[in-house]
Parts: sequence; structure tokens; C-alpha cells
Amino acid sequence: ANAQWQRPGPRSAELFERAARVTPGGVNSPVRAFSGVGGTPAFIDHASGAYIYDVDGNEYVDYVGSFGPMILGHAHPAVVEAVQQQASKGLSFGAPTGLETELAELVCSMVDSIESVRMVNSGTEAAMTALRLARGHTGRKKVIKFAGNYHGHVDALLVNAGSGALTLGIPGSPGVPEAVVQDTLVATYNDLDSVAEAFKAHGDDVACVMVEPVAGNMNCVPPEDGFLQGLRDLCDEYGALLVFDEVMTGFRVHPGCAQAHFGVTPDVTALGKIVGGGMPVGAVGGPSKVMETLAPTGPVYQAGTLSGHPLGMAAGIATLSRLKDGSVHEAIAPKLDSLLQGLQQCADKHGVPFLTQRVGAMFGMFFTDASRVSRFDDVAACDTDKFAVFFHTMLDHGVYLAPSAFEAGFISQAHDDTAIQRTLEAADAAFAAVAQA
Ligand code: PMP
Repeated sequence: ANAQWQRPGPRSAELFERAARVTPGGVNSPVRAFSGVGGTPAFIDHASGAYIYDVDGNEYVDYVGSFGPMILGHAHPAVVEAVQQQASKGLSFGAPTGLETELAELVCSMVDSIESVRMVNSGTEAAMTALRLARGHTGRKKVIKFAGNYHGHVDALLVNAGSGALTLGIPGSPGVPEAVVQDTLVATYNDLDSVAEAFKAHGDDVACVMVEPVAGNMNCVPPEDGFLQGLRDLCDEYGALLVFDEVMTGFRVHPGCAQAHFGVTPDVTALGKIVGGGMPVGAVGGPSKVMETLAPTGPVYQAGTLSGHPLGMAAGIATLSRLKDGSVHEAIAPKLDSLLQGLQQCADKHGVPFLTQRVGAMFGMFFTDASRVSRFDDVAACDTDKFAVFFHTMLDHGVYLAPSAFEAGFISQAHDDTAIQRTLEAADAAFAAVAQA
């Protein structure tokens, strides 16, 4: 524990010590360990609406939302009830259920580019399947991805070679053999020239461009005007597929996903997070003629014992059906306006260089002098020490932010004026602390 920070309380500290004995780093996903901000994590007991509660009884306004799924707020009664009812019928069957079709129909009705969906169990699996599908469908090997874009821990996509110059893939992690990433090309997000260069060099070999339409794993970086359309045009020119990884943006930036918000149509879409309403669900979707490349209709193998899991389908249906008419997104927009305006005023008051960016119901906070952050290098130049002070002071004042300067923030329909006011009061203390640090 870091003596500088009051959190965690004694129960969290004890649970973390116990966890570290039986789990690497005490966590099941690395960012939860607070390595990016110092200190040790609060262990959560329960959550409701805009709030989460740790095992020491502390209440926090939550802007993590389980890293994205909780757009309706935590423990939404309709979602919880759908899961409870389904659980009483048995947990999983290894045989089809009507629920899978119901969720697939909802996804197809909401996302224009999707006629057919395969359910999987995580965003990682969705991205992995999308890549294999693109390769199988085109008969080509290479994938162009972007530095600072994350597509889960898929071997071939776990490459984050330096921004700027296009480079051949270098494994981003021990355990990923070079052979597995030799067909991965890394371009610069928001730099169409870097993509055109990759196509010029390898055009006939490129199966797909895979992109987060809003980059949400390097804080929150929207696409510049024309960037996504430029990718669409390059893919068409070279006969490659355009894959949108909408695991984070899907149903969060718009009920029709980022592709509806920006008016650019991908060939294949990877989904996760909101599509499962907080349960472990991912999905891959696209036109039927592409999707039918997957087994059993086509030769590209893909499978899952627990895929289309009834509880995940129930939570996903309960969530998406509430997002479909757009009213949730409409209700969230002014809340996020007042949050971000309030944060900016507070930062200005304390003389802290600060910037926010947002698309739909996701946002980013940057400790920077810049007036816009659009490239990976801009993000890397932000002050992570200031973020750590901000993060911990917010936590001490009852606001739970993602424990890293490179994660996006998530708001829900449950964030009411009281929650936002509490956040801004905490921010007053946090910016004061940053100004003094
Ligand atoms: N793609 C994107 C864009 C993501 O943000 C994430 C996770 N944050 C993933 C893929 C991987 O999803 P999961 O953690 O569910 O495997």
C-alpha cells in the first residue's frame, strides 16, 4: 500500500494481500491493480445506478462502468431481473436457444452494416474472430492496425510498434512469437498517409484494416474528419475489408454504434461490453455473405462451448432494447456536457492545463496544454503524474475513475445532477491538489 493515499481501506488491503497470494498481481485483468497510478485497489462489494461501494463501505460515483457495459447504470432492475429469471431455467445448455436469435435480431436492427451475428464470450474473442474471418474471406494474410489501438490480447494484434513511421510488427509481449505478428502492419491513428503507405507496399496482401473508430484505449481520441471515410476508400481500392472494433464504441457513442455516428460503413464489426449488458459477451457481425464464411456454413472455423450464453443473452437483450430508440443517449448528452464543462471550469480556476474530449457517452481527460489530442504521440505527451494525483484525490473524495491516464471514461443514464455535483466538488479538491503537486 502507498501511505500517501488513504485508499484502500483495511478490508480492501486485506483482500488484495490474499488475492496476490493466489492470483498474479492479485487481479484478473492488469489495469485493476492500480499499477498506472500507484497505491492498491479498492475491492468492490456492490454497485447501484451511478455508484459503486467498496468492501470498507466507501461510496463512489463511478465513471468506469465496468469499463463500458453499464450505460444503463449498475444493477438496472430490468437487466438484473432478466438474468435472474433466466438463471432459474438453467445456466447453459450447449444447444441453441431463442435468446441468441433475439439478441442477434436486435443487433441487426440497430446496426446498419450487420445482417448476421456470431456470439462469442469477450471483446478479445470478437476481434480474434473478426481477423480470422477477414483473412479467410479474402484469402489474404496482412492486417493493418494502429499504434495505441487495443483489440484485446489477441496474439497477432498485440503489437503497438512506435507511432509515426509505419513498421513491420514487433511483438508487444513476451510469449508472442515474431512469426505470429509478421503479417501485422502498424499505422498511425488519424494519419491516412501512413495507411496509404502500408497499402502501397503490401496492398494485394492486406486482408483488412482493423480500427477503433473512436480510439478508446489511448484515453479518448475521436477520428479526425475524413479519417474513417479515407480508410473505407483505401480498403475499397485495394479489395481489403474494413473492420471496426466497436467493442467499446458499440451502442455507447450512438444506438447504431460509431458507424452510424460517423456515417462510415465497415464490412465487419467486433462488439463486446454493452452488447452483453455486463455479462461476458462479444459478437462479430457483418453482411450475410461475409459472415457465412464462418463454420458451419463456411470453412473458417470458430466455436465456443459457452457462446451465446443464456444469461449473457438475457442481459444483452434487456440492455439493447432500452437503447434502441435513442432516448438514453439523448438523456446522457446534457449530463456529460455539464460534467465536462464543470471539470474544465474547475481546472481553469486552479490554473491546471487540462482538456476533455468526448463522443457520445464516452469521454477523455487530458493533462496537457494542447487544444486537441488526435495522435498517439499527443496522448503519450500528457502528464501521467498529474493524472495520478488527480485520480487519487478524486478517489479520496468519493469519485471512481479508471486507474490509468490511457483509459476512456464512461457515463451512464443513472448519473444524475447529484452525482455530477458531487463529482465537481471532488474535482475542486483534486485540481487544487494537482496545482500544488
Ligand atoms: N477491443 C476494444 C476496442 C476494447 O476496448 C477491448 C477491451 N477494453 C477489447 C477489444 C477486448 O475486450 P475484452 O476485454 O472483453 O476481451
